[in-house]
Amino acid sequence: MTVKCIIDEDKLDKLASLAVNTGLSIKTNQDLLITSPVEALPLVRRIALHAYKAGANLVIPIFSDSELTLTRYGYAPNSSFDKAPDWLYKGMAEAFNNNTARLAIVGDDPMLLESQDPDKIGRSNKAVSKASKPARESITSFNINWNIIAWPGRSWAARVFPSLPIDEAQNQLAEAIFLASRVNTSNPGEAWAQHNADLLKRSSWLTQQNFDYLHFTGPGTDLKVGLANNHAWMGGASKCQNGIICNPNIPSEEVFTTPHRLKVDGTVSSTKPLSHQGTLIDEIKVTFKEGKIIEAKAAKGEEVLKKVLDADEGARRLGEVALVPDSSPISQSNILFFNTLFDENAACHIALGQCYSKCFKGGNDLSKKQIQQFGGNSSMIHIDWMIGSKAINIDGLHSADLPTPIFRNGEWAN
Ligand code: ZN
Ligand code: ZN
Repeated sequence: MTVKCIIDEDKLDKLASLAVNTGLSIKTNQDLLITSPVEALPLVRRIALHAYKAGANLVIPIFSDSELTLTRYGYAPNSSFDKAPDWLYKGMAEAFNNNTARLAIVGDDPMLLESQDPDKIGRSNKAVSKASKPARESITSFNINWNIIAWPGRSWAARVFPSLPIDEAQNQLAEAIFLASRVNTSNPGEAWAQHNADLLKRSSWLTQQNFDYLHFTGPGTDLKVGLANNHAWMGGASKCQNGIICNPNIPSEEVFTTPHRLKVDGTVSSTKPLSHQGTLIDEIKVTFKEGKIIEAKAAKGEEVLKKVLDADEGARRLGEVALVPDSSPISQSNILFFNTLFDENAACHIALGQCYSKCFKGGNDLSKKQIQQFGGNSSMIHIDWMIGSKAINIDGLHSADLPTPIFRNGEWAN
């Protein structure tokens, strides 16, 4: 099958090579599992080529299609929304146990499910979260090398650039993805090496400071985020338990760590809309007490937000806190992508739900029980939402000391 592709082929090829060689650092004889919208086939083909050239053993794609998803919502029996293909997720978990690398390509319309029944969406998300838990834990624990990149899907492009003709919108989105992914440079691999070194400098400083908590202040926000015992800050490249150093997110601008699930207090307002599995949740305002959200409001999508919070016991508590300066290329592009991979890298954010075991000192060797004792949260969800802007200040505190400025007006204080 020939696929018409109007996107810059040279940059697309650089993105594919970056995903394989820097994102995944795929190793000889490793299998690779790719999930992708069917629309991204031109990118998947290039990825497969680069993967085999790098010595990959088997490249296995699993495709999805927005039209098929909508057909399901329109015609599948109501009871089916409580079900997920368990066998598929079991297979994925088995593949990861056998050291298969994982590449996810995002690119669907972020508001695909906008006019679908929120109850069906909630139940379907819950069923998938439950079925995919073992596979997901291989990823969150970095058992294997994994990477997420983006394809400029046409419906997504139409959301981001609604006033442009569709071909132009897709090209603009492609250029925005290339810019944010540092593919516009002569040597993207080298650009990422430098970027990784910068992120490492920030994360090492924060880990060394070992703050008890961070204090976020800004419009509608006065939030104290206690940090987990033995927390470590991460950013950019990450060493996986299989020994491979991968860059899980392309793009990525954040340094992040694990909050203490019982020590978050105060009120926080979102600064960008959250596009969650097909619905938009906007102007979120929540209040935490002793780590738990006790009040939640949203101007848009409140019903979906409340379903998210009721997903399980850990869904009302934080699993991640992340710092991103307002001067990040994604923030400066002033594009609202309606996609967390991009929007989370435009602003400081927090995530509800599951923590990363990697964000602890010696994280690879910790048991689930130890992580819990240190204050790490566990949940079947992990949902990032943006709380940063150029109006936000952040201080780091130890219980007895004066605050150390970390961010002033949305930028690193030092
Ligand atoms: Zn994050
Ligand atoms: Zn996150």
